[in-house]
Amino acid sequence: MSIISDSLKRIKPSPTIAVTQKARELRAAGRDVIGLGAGEPDFDTPDNIKEAAIKAIKDGDTKYTAVDGTPALKQAIVDKFKRENNLNYTTDQITVGAGGKHVIYNLMMATLNKGDEVIIPAPYWVSYPDIVLLTGATPVVIECSEEQGFKLTAKDLEATITNNTKWVILNSPSNPTGACYSEQEIKNLAHVLKRKPHVHILSDDIYEHITYEGFKFFTIAEIPELKNKVVTMNGVSKSYAMTGWRIGYAAGDKDVIKAIAKIQSQSTTNPSSISQAAAVEALNGTQEFIPIRSLAFQERRDFVVNSLNAIDGISCLKPDGAFYVFPSCKGLIGKKDKSGKKLENDTDFVQSLLENNNVAVVQGSAFGLDGFFRISYATSMENLEKAMSRIKEFCESLS
Ligand SMILES: *Cc1c(COP(=O)(O)O)cnc(C)c1O
Repeated sequence: MSIISDSLKRIKPSPTIAVTQKARELRAAGRDVIGLGAGEPDFDTPDNIKEAAIKAIKDGDTKYTAVDGTPALKQAIVDKFKRENNLNYTTDQITVGAGGKHVIYNLMMATLNKGDEVIIPAPYWVSYPDIVLLTGATPVVIECSEEQGFKLTAKDLEATITNNTKWVILNSPSNPTGACYSEQEIKNLAHVLKRKPHVHILSDDIYEHITYEGFKFFTIAEIPELKNKVVTMNGVSKSYAMTGWRIGYAAGDKDVIKAIAKIQSQSTTNPSSISQAAAVEALNGTQEFIPIRSLAFQERRDFVVNSLNAIDGISCLKPDGAFYVFPSCKGLIGKKDKSGKKLENDTDFVQSLLENNNVAVVQGSAFGLDGFFRISYATSMENLEKAMSRIKEFCESLS
């Protein structure tokens, strides 16, 4: 009998973390690899946030806290939702975990039974289906084509909902495509969901602050008839360049929030007291650097999209947010690389790119859509310039 549980056998390790790890190993072995696989900002955590953490340590803020967040952090989150989204919550509708991923994990563990279905639009963030599989429930993937901007349509949503659908997961701006849903697009989905009261919605808003050219962020909890059905997940990882601090949060129905705390009380207990103090400063302190950093991301996006579209066989949409692009490599599938290996799919494409031209990206199939790859442009312009010329060289070397 295997020591590994059946539920664990259903899942795989995160492919994006695997690519980052592979790039790190190759670099340690002396190869000049440029990693465009990582899903985190290259900027540093702002100083005022670091200072708040240092102060917390010095003040002895170093003990267990309330399981699902300190009163100060919950209040800062309530204030954030009011200030930025015009959403009213009370502190008992807020939960804090060790990163947004942890909050989603807890939410799914707390609510899913075997037989329940979770609708996941693809391309999706790699962790959604595997977290659902761990609970024993069933991920139901809807492919959203490049022609529809990689976005879910109301028609496809409606056709996929069954009596067993428990959650629909929305993620805008999206990882891996950068696609952003406009207010009207969300309202179109809401129109379907209002007529399906048994369906709950998880809105993953982690890239809320990374949008371009005046895109107006809108989140589905802003639709009054749906607010009680929506759990809105957000966190400090991406907006405040705090991936290592591990603080994510969610707002939603009191009973669901309480259930999340119950899981946390029997597993991780509270997230780090010091990180929570830092997150209070992130949310309450100056927000000035956010538009400045977004502008830097936008310049990189423009450079990357233009460079990719100038390569024969590659085409790339220009997304409104996050720090990813999701170009198609379909025009190069079937060609052979320098060593004579035929590229049968996007996985072959990214492996050959890494082996021959030292650029690490992630294959689209890892996100549920074949024929594409994801580039994270959260790295220096210098790195991006080098990477784009390497990708061009690689593509031109195929025959
Ligand atoms: C990064 C990310 C998260 C959460 O990240 P944490 O570091 O766990 O807070 C959630 N959803 C998406 C789509 C992400 O890219």
